[in-house]
Amino acid sequence: MPLVDERELLLPALKERRAVGAFNANNMEMIQAFVWAAEEMTEELGKPVDLIIQLSPGASKYAGWALGAGMVKIVAQETNIRIALNLDHATKLEEIEKALENNFTAVLFDGSSLPLEENIELTRKVVEMCHPRGVPVEAELGKIPKIEDYFSKDEIAHLRSLPAKEAVKIIRERAGKSVEELMAKPEDVEMFVEKTGCDFLAAAFGSIHGIWDDIWPVRVDRLVEIQKRTPLPLVSHGSSGILMTPKDVEEKGIELMEGEGTLLDAIQTGGVTKVNVATILSVSFIQGFIDAYNANPSEKDFRNLGKVARDRVKEKVKEYMRLFAGAIS
Ligand SMILES: [Zn+2]
Repeated sequence: MPLVDERELLLPALKERRAVGAFNANNMEMIQAFVWAAEEMTEELGKPVDLIIQLSPGASKYAGWALGAGMVKIVAQETNIRIALNLDHATKLEEIEKALENNFTAVLFDGSSLPLEENIELTRKVVEMCHPRGVPVEAELGKIPKIEDYFSKDEIAHLRSLPAKEAVKIIRERAGKSVEELMAKPEDVEMFVEKTGCDFLAAAFGSIHGIWDDIWPVRVDRLVEIQKRTPLPLVSHGSSGILMTPKDVEEKGIELMEGEGTLLDAIQTGGVTKVNVATILSVSFIQGFIDAYNANPSEKDFRNLGKVARDRVKEKVKEYMRLFAGAIS
């Protein structure tokens, strides 16, 4: 079927306290993995699983805007899965223009590095560009930092080699206070939503972009406060790094501080309806490719390595889809 309006996916999900996965694609294999995962999960759960495929401006330039969006449109035509195509983290109006030209069905305008007034002003402009074309707008309030804001590449490589519990301790010590200060302030929410006219709100609630595995707790108490001030679907960024379930917390031996919780808590009590997952899928693809190559270093056929990488991504996506549907605890 044709691509759908992202509102059609998120508004019913919010009522039902479930989430829709928004997965970042970087190539054809990842797009296939997402759609096949949704098809298989629809079968497994016995109810339709919706899908948001995201391209960042970087991914759109890597593939070419027309080819990147074109691949998503073609897979959508060939499946019964409802798919929305979102532009992730646009920071320039030209990127929004490109997305509209290429028939994206949602955009995220990220003005979070600007002072609040400028963020509001530019987001309002984006809404004025998009709404007449029937395209909803996600806006960002507070700032969701990157792990690279706090650690060098070498330090990140070291953190990745540590048990989750130790890595979390180190990240808390260096970044914890800053991440907390960057969170969205509940008192800004109503005014921000009203002045911008946005449709979905990516309010920072303690997550960090770019963490490679699910180890990091988030501030569910802040989400609860934000949710009291807006009826809009909330969006989780940096979700690759967020602990998935209370069971996950226990297994990894992470100690939760007051107000903290997992992705499952964020969905079931915090109003999170759209969950963006990027880093962990990129890592899964790379690792699948490396493993397949190491298992057969004389392989000359790209496809035999690509298939393994694609399967890894598909399995990871299915795990998230089970969580978003409330089918694992
Ligand atoms: Zn993000």
